[in-house]
Amino acid sequence: MLTRRLFCGCLPLAAGFISSECVAQAQPEACEVFTRGRQQAATPETALMRLREGNARFLSGKTVNCDLRAQVKATAHGQAPFAAVVSCIDSRVPVEIVLDQRIGDVFVARVAGNFVNTDIIGSLEYATKVAGAKLVVVLGHSECGAIKGAVDDVKLGNLTALLANIKPAVEAVTSVEGPRSSKHAAFVQAVAEENARFAARQLVERSAVLKEMVEKKEIGIVAAMHDIATGQISFTVHG
Ligand SMILES: [Zn+2]
Repeated sequence: MLTRRLFCGCLPLAAGFISSECVAQAQPEACEVFTRGRQQAATPETALMRLREGNARFLSGKTVNCDLRAQVKATAHGQAPFAAVVSCIDSRVPVEIVLDQRIGDVFVARVAGNFVNTDIIGSLEYATKVAGAKLVVVLGHSECGAIKGAVDDVKLGNLTALLANIKPAVEAVTSVEGPRSSKHAAFVQAVAEENARFAARQLVERSAVLKEMVEKKEIGIVAAMHDIATGQISFTVHG
């Protein structure tokens, strides 16, 4: 049960009566935007719990209904997101929707195949070291077209260079029997999981900034997988 509070500054005109404007702007407590204070009170563990709870709400159909325009106003002068997510561009994995997050809650970097490179690692250094996020999630997903393209060694324009970023994960999966083909669902899924774990490891190996923050327990880094058939996100795949 959400505690309701009035987001606007107006007062009840009389007992039991509030203006229609106030009713329209009433916000569940869960809709309060992240401030620097709330962000810094969070830990990697509570940040992860928040994302788990968000996905659970999404799965149950009981997402938080917020006045997004009020959140825009509340974040106009600054942001303090509690987490950062690297995900694929896949239209079936809209990060804020499947994690039930809103304006000012999470940084999101999206690239086909959710790999990391210098630009994305730099973005995450900003998200954590500069802007204060407590958790980085690399979110892979099932039935990923980029993973399938890398598995099949597709060549097409600039996509060829992009898919090269996923090849280490393809080569690392040796335990799945059968053809190393996009038609082999178990192999594709294993590569997608390894690709998410590989990206999570890369963040520490390629960034002294992130490595130091992890060692000091200032941030956490987690690999996760989204099931496009159910909407469920598993955070148990560790990087
Ligand atoms: Zn994908």
